[in-house]
Amino acid sequence: VFERGFKSWCENVAIELRKELKLDSAAPLPPTRVADHLGIGLWTPHDLEGLSRDALAVLLGEENDSWSAITVAHSGRKAIVYNPRHSAARRASDVMHELAHVIIGHQPERMIVSSNNDFALRTYDKKQEDEAIWLSGSLLLPRGALLEIVEAGVALPAAANQFGVSLDLLEYRINITAVRLQLRRRRRR
Ligand SMILES: [Zn+2]
Repeated sequence: VFERGFKSWCENVAIELRKELKLDSAAPLPPTRVADHLGIGLWTPHDLEGLSRDALAVLLGEENDSWSAITVAHSGRKAIVYNPRHSAARRASDVMHELAHVIIGHQPERMIVSSNNDFALRTYDKKQEDEAIWLSGSLLLPRGALLEIVEAGVALPAAANQFGVSLDLLEYRINITAVRLQLRRRRRR
């Protein structure tokens, strides 16, 4: 359960960010542009100089699909380290999720500092995770965009492609926001 007004705040952030980036209010929002706009670096584990070979092997390992992205503080600057083995659509949502934590201003529940004090990894609590998931979905697929997609009858795989997201995320957002119902009501008027 979110705090009152949280969901509409997310929609507003989605619109504001597009304005700041001179994008249409229902246009796709590439996470790379948001990161750039916020001055946050986007790295793969290869860019983490202090990381041991063992840790790198784990993060990049053939088997390892388990981690998505983490935000690190490095020399007073934030950077998001993402899993380069994931698909483009998955990486977009991984990165947007981390950006959402930053945008909301979440204070990490735990900071794990590397042995040489060079890196600090953050972990978040459940409420913060839920908020980041919701904001990330709203940023990638805001209500206005979902309404346009459904109203225009665009094939969902094509729309997912256009927005750089997975079909699963698009279908989830269409259902959870009940935009089809909103359109039916609008048409009846
Ligand atoms: Zn998170």
